[in-house]
Amino acid sequence: MASHSASSTGRGLARFTEAPMLSITPPNIIDLIVRPAPESLSSSPTSTSSTAAAPYTDKIRPRRSRWVVSRAFVKILSAYCIPPGRYLRGWWEMLESNVLIYLIRRDLRVSDNPILHHLATTEDHGFTHFLPVCVITPNQYEVSGFVKDGSSSPFPEARSAVGGFWRCGPHRAKFVAESVWDLKNSFESLNSGLVIRVGQFSETLKSLVSGLKAEGLKVGATWMVSQEGSDEKLEEDSVSAYCASESIEFKSWVDEKYFIDDRDLNFENAEDLPDVFTTYRKSMEPLRERPRQTVPKPPKSSLPDFPPASSIAPQAAPFEIPPDLEGFREAMLKKVRDFIHFLPPFPEDAESAHPFSGGETNALVRLDDIIKNGVVLRYKTSRNGLVGTEFSTKLSAWLALGCITARQVHWRLADYEDGKDEAFSEPEGYGKGENEGSKGVRFELLWRDYMRLCHKKFGTKLFHRSGFREDHSHKWKEPIKKEGTQEPPEPGAAEGVDRVLQRIYDGTTGMGLIDATQRELLHTGYTSNRARQNVASFLAKHLNIDWRYGAEWYEMLLVDYDVSSNWANWQYVAGVGNDPRGEARIFNPVKQAFDYDKEGTYVRCWVPEVRALEKLEHVFQCCTTPKEDWDRFNLTGLVMAEDPIKRIDFTVDGKPNKHVKRPFDRRRKDGRIRSATNTQVVTDRQPSAEQSENAANVPNGNSYGNQYGPQPRQFPQFDPPRSPRGGGFRGGRGGGSGGAGRGRGGGYGGPNRGFPRGGGGYRGNGRGQQPYYPNPYAQYGPPPGPGRPMPWGPAQGPV
Ligand SMILES: Cc1cc2nc3c(=O)[nH]c(=O)nc-3n(C[C@H](O)[C@H](O)[C@H](O)COP(=O)(O)OP(=O)(O)OC[C@H]3O[C@@H](n4cnc5c(N)ncnc54)[C@H](O)[C@@H]3O)c2cc1C
Repeated sequence: MASHSASSTGRGLARFTEAPMLSITPPNIIDLIVRPAPESLSSSPTSTSSTAAAPYTDKIRPRRSRWVVSRAFVKILSAYCIPPGRYLRGWWEMLESNVLIYLIRRDLRVSDNPILHHLATTEDHGFTHFLPVCVITPNQYEVSGFVKDGSSSPFPEARSAVGGFWRCGPHRAKFVAESVWDLKNSFESLNSGLVIRVGQFSETLKSLVSGLKAEGLKVGATWMVSQEGSDEKLEEDSVSAYCASESIEFKSWVDEKYFIDDRDLNFENAEDLPDVFTTYRKSMEPLRERPRQTVPKPPKSSLPDFPPASSIAPQAAPFEIPPDLEGFREAMLKKVRDFIHFLPPFPEDAESAHPFSGGETNALVRLDDIIKNGVVLRYKTSRNGLVGTEFSTKLSAWLALGCITARQVHWRLADYEDGKDEAFSEPEGYGKGENEGSKGVRFELLWRDYMRLCHKKFGTKLFHRSGFREDHSHKWKEPIKKEGTQEPPEPGAAEGVDRVLQRIYDGTTGMGLIDATQRELLHTGYTSNRARQNVASFLAKHLNIDWRYGAEWYEMLLVDYDVSSNWANWQYVAGVGNDPRGEARIFNPVKQAFDYDKEGTYVRCWVPEVRALEKLEHVFQCCTTPKEDWDRFNLTGLVMAEDPIKRIDFTVDGKPNKHVKRPFDRRRKDGRIRSATNTQVVTDRQPSAEQSENAANVPNGNSYGNQYGPQPRQFPQFDPPRSPRGGGFRGGRGGGSGGAGRGRGGGYGGPNRGFPRGGGGYRGNGRGQQPYYPNPYAQYGPPPGPGRPMPWGPAQGPV
């Protein structure tokens, strides 16, 4: 897809021409005053670390302030030629100035940024001023935290369409705030600036254009990067329509944060994208030769001037933009901290696998670190890990926001493979070409491209329950919805989908791997690809619940949420996307736990209730613990043991039998699973040779099967207890008393806005309302408060 200008889109945009203006400007006088000194013309580009190796030939010139000088000239004229000078001044400024507004979306970086690069290297772009603007839009982010005291937000809450969850939960809100602020600092270090605004794109643009015009500045163009997504397309359309009405040139640029540039694909239209990933991958191989060069960060003072402060319209009421990162982060987080009725306590000794902060600066550091620390080298064997920061790259959140691009990753890997940067000389493989690890990372980056291309191809089918396949035959289970009422679903509906879903969200299903994953997600905003696949498969295939309830929950909580990657992966696992095996591929979460959590470290880490259990099969399904041991292990009364959502018969003696297909029924009967006779289930066993082609289709999944060795112990801080009771994991904070009463009495729930939409009855609301079901974590006492801050900052009041 080529970058297209307004005229080429056929959207009827007015063309902007700068020629008349330039011809009126007295060139001799102005040029004489502003002509750069000869030495400044020869200044060479400074590259960022990640782009150092990329050959780069364009000239970059620090730009002198042509506009400032001409403005001074006009001022003098106006001072001495009053009154005609006054008119002359307004007229002259309007003609001389030409402002470019850059609306920043998920392209929060200054290096490898084609727009900035273009401005820094093109002599005759004709812009006197450059105004980068980052817009926090109210449909994607909850913006009421920016409202000045005493006012209220004019926008509806930013909630998802199906489940009514926050579109952006606390983890990503924090990460986005950090990324935006980092970008602001970067622009300032380039002698430019960044305006941050809350509101709709078109309204924000309108107000900025009026402000600039009021100061006599002409706005010549608005640029933004084109992005997939229905919200994104609407934004783009509204901006382009506004520009057309004001005769402002509008240009949408190709989003260049992907591995293979859209313009280098070997098909013209997205409709021609193969429906099977392997076909697409093969058509693109060798992958290492595909990415385009990166472009360097623009040097200081190489961008057109930032407009004078007086010309920048303030944030529209009732919002205000805090002056520092702390305030900005707090505003982003204010409302969305309250996202679940009972937040389980953060387990003692657990540590986030994603402790990283947002922003391009941190992204580039992490990129170098994963090469230096051997994460890339080991990637092929570690990528299915579950615990710690180093089993995979953890680049996803920065990639999603465009703090870094996939081709930057590629070229940095190439520096290591080609022995071009001494900083990477330590890990094995330096200068020895592509290795299994670096190849694996490129492979996954291609998956990311593919998910986006699927989005492009299938459009809004990405969000349809019937998926890309348009499979309307499947009978999905849905939560009970009581339209037009604030009432919760029937508390007595023990088997109700609502209750099941709530327990999946809480991480209290009784299925160890699922619960660990869900609690890790709640607390950190991250969980591994292996874990995500298992949860998606559990919800959609074992429980047959409308998969969109999972996709939206992930949208809220993932720090690395990306519209295409999230929804297309959910579809894929749910069997309605483009997994060629569709319905047939089902992950058995018990077997998966045996395969990938060999010592039970992961499940014990995030589910303290099972830490003391000795046998792995009990850790992975605590209901299988012999009844006589329940009191000893504090399982009696524990919902996960007493009433597991699903029970999977799994005959193990420490190790699952890899050669036996172990079918299990999708339906739960009398609390027990019966073996199915005609089930179509294929467990996630090691693919046979014949299956390998299909197996290679699993995104970041079974393509390498179980060939990895044991998962390295990456979590030394936590040692699972060797003896029953385990020295005090249970009870944790609060010592197990009084919690249930608090839960029932509604003492620590704010009004539940998270589920279902408009609901209010799942939790106590501080007014004595009965929660939908008792606090499953009651034994731990009160939820995290000031004493135990959550990763996104201290909870403000009850969470
Ligand atoms: C149900 C489900 C939901 C998911 N939602 C998201 C999401 O919202 N955002 C997101 O970035 N990824 C998503 N993924 C893909 C994958 O789980 C994450 O990209 C990965 O876990 C991020 O960790 P990492 O950066 O360490 O990945 P690595 O294993 O180090 O992979 C390197 C990069 O490749 C890309 N990548 C890896 N696997 C995939 C994949 N299956 N699909 C697309 N890109 C991939 C990511 O950009 C990742 O950063 C989802 C997967 C599933 C099964």
